[in-house]
Amino acid sequence: MVLAYDGAIQRLIDSFASLPGIGPKGAQRIAFYLLQAPDVESQRLVDAISEVKAKVKFCEICGNVCESSPCAICSDPRRDHTTICVVEEPKDVMSIENTREYRGLYQVLGGAINPMANIGPSDLNIAQLLNRLKDGQVKEVIVALNPNIEGEATTTYLSRLLTPLDIKVTRLASGLPVGGDLEYADEITLSRALEGRREV
Ligand SMILES: [Zn+2]
Repeated sequence: MVLAYDGAIQRLIDSFASLPGIGPKGAQRIAFYLLQAPDVESQRLVDAISEVKAKVKFCEICGNVCESSPCAICSDPRRDHTTICVVEEPKDVMSIENTREYRGLYQVLGGAINPMANIGPSDLNIAQLLNRLKDGQVKEVIVALNPNIEGEATTTYLSRLLTPLDIKVTRLASGLPVGGDLEYADEITLSRALEGRREV
């Protein structure tokens, strides 16, 4: 039998442990840290979580996180509205923005095709992307998915779908670590991959 703490503290540990990237030990450390922290500090965390759940939504155009939809990127007339960069998650938008190489728009898919986890094309924002390509304004779609099996499968699926549409479809150049995650690529590697993108 695994020993557990009584009531509230164990519930807090379990809540942290269920989050991505936090193991049971880390969850316990954070829970006890908060228990001993000044009330104002723990309240700041509670408020930040409530605020994010109340205010943050997904952009109706690109699927990125925002406080007012359309997001700041979609509604910025100075951005290049003829290019869409397709990424898996909102955090990938941030990674590409940090390169300062890209001035176009985004489409956040909300994941990648993964048969093992029962995630198929219809679970992703692919219809949203196709809808945006209808008016002929978009000339290039840059597929910037994670360099792993799921990202590759999704890139292949998208390129088959987009090729007949007479839009230039490119993907990031190699140089990104295979099996890795866009989030962990350093800015120089990512901006080179963006610069060296090739047609699919
Ligand atoms: Zn948007």
